[in-house]
Amino acid sequence: MNEGAAKKEEKPRRFQAIRGTRDLLPPETALWNRVEQTAHEVFATFGFGEIRLPIFEPTDLFARAVGGDTDIVSKEMYTFADPAENYLEYIQRQLRELGHEGYSKFTNENPEKLRQEIHDRSEVMLVSLRPEATASVCRAYIEHGMQQLPQPVKLYYMGPMFRRERPQKGRYRQFYQIGAEVLGGSDAPAIDAEVIEMVMTFFDQLELQGVQLEINSIGDRNCRPKYVELLRAELLKVKDSLGPDSQRRIETNPLRVLDSKVKEEQAIIEKLPRIGDHLCKECAEHYAAVKRELDLRAVKYRENWRLVRGLDYYMRTTFEITAQGLGSQDAVCGGGRYDGLVELLGGPPTKGIGFAIGEDRLILSLQESGKAPVAQGRDVYIAWMGENARATAVRAARELRKAGFSVELPPVEQKFGKALGQADKLGAKYTLILGDNEVTSGEWTLKTLADGTQRKVSEQQLIAELKKM
Ligand code: AMP
Repeated sequence: MNEGAAKKEEKPRRFQAIRGTRDLLPPETALWNRVEQTAHEVFATFGFGEIRLPIFEPTDLFARAVGGDTDIVSKEMYTFADPAENYLEYIQRQLRELGHEGYSKFTNENPEKLRQEIHDRSEVMLVSLRPEATASVCRAYIEHGMQQLPQPVKLYYMGPMFRRERPQKGRYRQFYQIGAEVLGGSDAPAIDAEVIEMVMTFFDQLELQGVQLEINSIGDRNCRPKYVELLRAELLKVKDSLGPDSQRRIETNPLRVLDSKVKEEQAIIEKLPRIGDHLCKECAEHYAAVKRELDLRAVKYRENWRLVRGLDYYMRTTFEITAQGLGSQDAVCGGGRYDGLVELLGGPPTKGIGFAIGEDRLILSLQESGKAPVAQGRDVYIAWMGENARATAVRAARELRKAGFSVELPPVEQKFGKALGQADKLGAKYTLILGDNEVTSGEWTLKTLADGTQRKVSEQQLIAELKKM
């Protein structure tokens, strides 16, 4: 086989986006921009400032903040050893010390030990792509001494998150969240209500359809442990009628059983003791006050006693918002109070509450209800012909763009017929025709594509004319 033939057979690999990730393309990206712009505007009116966070953080941060035995941390994080130079140095030193044979024995037989040793010596860090951002916001709050600022500190963020979940409609491995946190100061119920009011205002501005807010209180360190024990005891009585996931959760996290969507378990769950009947006095009062504050703000809600967050540091107020057109993954926002989290991460005792909106789902819901923008056509297509017209066309494009019009200037000369066809395909509103006649007379031809009418305009009049139309 000669070289040429061999080359022919070799098919270049066609790459595809990794499962669970996707490209966002125009015109859809215009909707993403509108959503994000609205978030910037609405959140600013509530006094929130934007925080931009790293995409990766030490794995330990998430293990600690989200919880080592949650699905997110135990199964879904994208984690890797940061291949810092000193990592290579460490491996090389190991090689020298152990000799090659010893080294491979060490790594093959004891990969866990090697990992642990590397970790202990802090010669390399395990890092993870962030699965959520609350942990990072709290880390930043501590790191930058934000407890010195006037409290509470109100921050919002937006950007990609990563979880290795099973992809389906509305569930991706790289997805986007828009979230906010209120840290420090008090845990006044009005703060909880205002945070919720802010999300609802944001959804309202976007005209999101079928918005349903559900709220609950899950107690605090005082009353929840007792309730969880009671729940566990009751669950053990009905253990045999539960599926394997729920059976496992009786031990690991009984609250999560309440989340169960398994059909056969629903009737059983409905009969379980409810946290609302077991809140301590302070928590019951806090919850009642949050509801009053929501009423005051005319925010409509439904109480759902089964709305829980399985993580230890979540307490009192929890909420979830669903929207229409999303199928089984219909939660567009989840949030709650987490007064213990900053302390858990080595900071001072700090009150905290926040939420995260799933931007992908928000966009999906907006699209399903017909809020998607259509492809943005050009305002003006410049059909130019002849060398004389080239310079005039370039000048016209520059002036029109400066005035804010979207302009398509074909890079090479075209026949007018073809140019008009192109203008039509691009959805242009107007075609500016520049031929020899126009350049010589200084009277340009402006064609309105919708009705085919033409008129003459001078260079000086052009922008004023277009603004009038
Ligand atoms: P969480 O951080 O799990 O409380 O999720 C908050 C919101 O983020 C959810 O209500 C969803 O809208 C969204 N979300 C969570 N996981 C995913 C995912 N894998 N794909 C798309 N959106 C997600």
